[in-house]
Amino acid sequence: MATPLIDGFGRVHRDLRISVTDRCNFRCGYCMPAEGLQWLPRDGLLTFEEIERVARLLVERYGVQGIRLTGGEPTVRAQLPVLVEMLARLGVDLAMTTNGVSLSLLAGALRSAGLGRINISCDSLRPDRFAEITRRPELSRVLDGIDAAVSAGFAPVKVNCVVMRGVNDDEIADFVAFGRDRGVEVRFIEFMPLDADGAWTSETVVGTEEILARIDEVCPVEPIGRTSAPAVRYRFRDGRGSVGIVASVSDSFCSSCDRVRLTADGQFRNCLFATTETDLRARLRSGAGDDEIAAAIEASVAAKWAGHQINQVHFIRPRRSMSQIGG
Ligand code: SAM
Ligand code: SF4
Repeated sequence: MATPLIDGFGRVHRDLRISVTDRCNFRCGYCMPAEGLQWLPRDGLLTFEEIERVARLLVERYGVQGIRLTGGEPTVRAQLPVLVEMLARLGVDLAMTTNGVSLSLLAGALRSAGLGRINISCDSLRPDRFAEITRRPELSRVLDGIDAAVSAGFAPVKVNCVVMRGVNDDEIADFVAFGRDRGVEVRFIEFMPLDADGAWTSETVVGTEEILARIDEVCPVEPIGRTSAPAVRYRFRDGRGSVGIVASVSDSFCSSCDRVRLTADGQFRNCLFATTETDLRARLRSGAGDDEIAAAIEASVAAKWAGHQINQVHFIRPRRSMSQIGG
């Protein structure tokens, strides 16, 4: 019988995000500097066996039910389907967030290996703008990747769009139409202060209410009940599909947060915005037993704060950018 992984505010943690690499083949301005970052040395990354050991502990001892692979860009990690197969054996809801650029090649193998769900990030449907945001002219390959994910049988395929004022906030209606045409669920995400360049200001955030109003204007929606997932979902009133909004800044989902994270270099984080980490890699590599690793995880979760303090004077930006933490 699993023991719930519970923090001081009574929140039970059932969702694990694993960053499998800090590297990326894109350079989205809101996530990574143009020149990239100092990549981890190869031996700094957790091996597949180390990742599986931590995941297994969280699943078997604490009843974690969902695992999402992220990065950096998870598909740049060699042999990713092998890791997917190892984690799928744990019997969890296994998902991945990707920039989609390699999915034409990989979607089938990932699906066969046991990946259940997929989110693909795409912030503009205009080739020039897409190239500016990602610093890579790859929109058509990403759109092919979305189609490949649908053809491989992932259901639902979700498309993540970070909405930034003055950058892509005029494309909300286009994304609504795109999602309905392609049979994918678009999730609009508020821009968070985790950009490597430190360009975020509260003025660049387009809040949920504004996003919702713009969706409703082109295609009326009604809410679908809220779960612990960060997205608030809406169905189109004409019955053709649904859309989500992640109000990470304006209406934080912290009070129902059930998520913990493992970075590519084996640091356990109790929050996306945490300013401290627990070093599991050192423990794994110094022969620690499961009880010792579990004690470190429990101590980290017990120390979790009530929520992030974005927009408040005492908010401290995490030292690492989104790509290093694993979005
Ligand atoms: N490379 C993969 C991708 O782009 O989907 C996975 C890693 S990425 C860090 C995970 C998600 O974080 C993406 O959907 C991305 O758009 C989002 N993201 C990155 N920086 C962000 C920021 N400053 N605010 C909001 N979302 C952000
Ligand atoms: Fe890479 Fe994803 Fe960050 Fe873009 S959002 S730079 S694709 S990790």
